[in-house]
Amino acid sequence: MNNSAAMISINNLRKFFGTNEILKGINLDVKNGEVLVIIGPSGSGKSTLLRCIKGLERPDSGTIYIEGQKLDERNKNYRVLQQEIGMVFQHFNLFPHMTALQNVIEGPITVKKMPRDKAIEKGLNLLKKVGLLDKKDEYPSRLSGGQKQRVAIARALAMQPKIMLFDEPTSALDPELVQEVLNVMKELAGEGMTMIVVTHEMGFAKEVADKVVFMDDGMILEEGSPNVIFSDPKHIRTRNFLGKII
Ligand code: ADP
Ligand code: MG
Repeated sequence: MNNSAAMISINNLRKFFGTNEILKGINLDVKNGEVLVIIGPSGSGKSTLLRCIKGLERPDSGTIYIEGQKLDERNKNYRVLQQEIGMVFQHFNLFPHMTALQNVIEGPITVKKMPRDKAIEKGLNLLKKVGLLDKKDEYPSRLSGGQKQRVAIARALAMQPKIMLFDEPTSALDPELVQEVLNVMKELAGEGMTMIVVTHEMGFAKEVADKVVFMDDGMILEEGSPNVIFSDPKHIRTRNFLGKII
């Protein structure tokens, strides 16, 4: 059902790749300003779920509502809704031939038709926010993984998203670079951004998440507050999974 109190409402979402059912009826609500952390083993469908929300994969059935509006290619506001969802990937996906600043202003200029000087002004503010103003003219190849990911976050924010999706944003980083990215994400959460974060950074989840969801084999097996999920998981598979990563 369309739950207009939710920023995102996902209802019975199913996705097949060929004959493999990858998402087996996902139901999920995220309220405005909430941070949802998704955990679960590799191959459980976490990325596919985020990609469906971002519109990078088309679900076979089920619905996704953003602030009460159905995310549907046939709706004329589909593109606008899709732009309101920012996504950050494990492998950054920056444009390699563009500087940090060019990466950040590209979307606002080409998609939102923002005047260049305004886009630059906003872009510089965002690079400042993620602590990279001094790197504005560097190309991605000259940035560390943590810096690249922070540029990627600034680039997503430049589109003024209502929701930010993070797909294992720190899993490709050297351990000493993880915290600088998590800190930017924490700050964003503190500002009230609605976020869905796939991560196995339990410290982050405990500190920042309002709700943690455990996914396994295309289903949500368990959800609850981080305290409950981490200290008293109900499902044997959640317990086994947490036993492996903690
Ligand atoms: P997770 O992010 O939890 O590791 P994924 O969503 O990436 O899981 O993948 C879930 C399952 O879907 C895996 O078995 C994966 O091989 C399969 N899968 C993902 N993307 C595709 C695709 N484009 N084509 C076929 N199978 C895919
Ligand atoms: Mg994944």
